[in-house]
Amino acid sequence: MNRFWSPIVEQLSPYVPGEQPKLEDLVKLNTNENPYGPSPRVIEAIQGELGDGLRLYPDPTASRLRQTVADYYDLQADQVFIGNGSDEVLAHAFFALFQQQRPLLFPDITYSFYPVYCGLYGIDYRTIPLAEDFALRLSDYARPNGGVIFPNPNAPTGRLLGLDEIESLLQGNRDSVVVVDEAYIDFGGESAVSLIDSYANLLVIQTLSKSRSLAGMRIGLALGNAGLLEGLVRVKDSFNSYPIDRLALAAGIAAFEDEDHFHRTCRWVIDERKVLGARLQESGFEVLPSAANFLFASHPGHDAASLAAALREAGVIVRHFRQPRIDQYLRITVGKPADNLRFLAALADCL
Ligand SMILES: *Cc1c(COP(=O)(O)O)cnc(C)c1O
Repeated sequence: MNRFWSPIVEQLSPYVPGEQPKLEDLVKLNTNENPYGPSPRVIEAIQGELGDGLRLYPDPTASRLRQTVADYYDLQADQVFIGNGSDEVLAHAFFALFQQQRPLLFPDITYSFYPVYCGLYGIDYRTIPLAEDFALRLSDYARPNGGVIFPNPNAPTGRLLGLDEIESLLQGNRDSVVVVDEAYIDFGGESAVSLIDSYANLLVIQTLSKSRSLAGMRIGLALGNAGLLEGLVRVKDSFNSYPIDRLALAAGIAAFEDEDHFHRTCRWVIDERKVLGARLQESGFEVLPSAANFLFASHPGHDAASLAAALREAGVIVRHFRQPRIDQYLRITVGKPADNLRFLAALADCL
């Protein structure tokens, strides 16, 4: 608290990101980063930008990156919006689309940034409980609302919804915006991008932080109807006209162009997810089905917070949420095989 703060700042309860430790040699399985590096073509593209050109502002409309993404998804460039990480894209979407008379709806167990944006922008919201097995039942969202948002796959559970379920929600929900946050869709789900031309109220948000290994560059996307996106552009241009710097623009284009690297590394993560899930089950964990690059698991005989603390002592960090319903779960990012083996060895010592 400081006496010069505006009243709204006193009331904020900010998001707490997962730890980015300074220590080397930790096995870091806590923030769902990709264990594999970005494409070599991304590194080359960034190097190509290093020079006198950096004195110039970047393209405020990110037009080449938007066109590259549009080509990838078979969309028009005006159906693509780019922001400084999908967290920024989400923030703009909340501000532009969710400040409505009726409350915004999202699951009780979900990405914990959503209520933070509601606090920042004064958006009224209701949480809808997931089923006992953490399944997201979209039929529960069929009620008057000022918008609906959920991740698919959901975070931190990893559970995936099918496109048919999303389409039935859209069929019954024509008067408010539905945002599908597809941060993890490339690890085994089917994107709702194909529904954009049929539903002008659908906004799909993606990030290059997870499946494209670029958490350090901060690039996020929104895909949707051009008129809907124009609302995001208005917010962006009232806030920061140049959210994507020159290095990030070059990196983003190269990341979408190198499809082989993308598919190969996603496949490695998916294969390793299966191995890690099986090992966890053998150790007595209950593991939720995951279509993401992490597993959500609970051990009936061990307290999750104590396990997370003991693992940390052993040099392995995983994520634990002190939150009702999920405080007995650990969220474990799928690492490289060697990381996962170190994790499993440390875990065996804790059990
Ligand atoms: C990681 C994550 C984001 C944020 O991604 P950035 O592009 O790195 O800001 C958004 N939504 C969900 C569900 C995530 O897990």
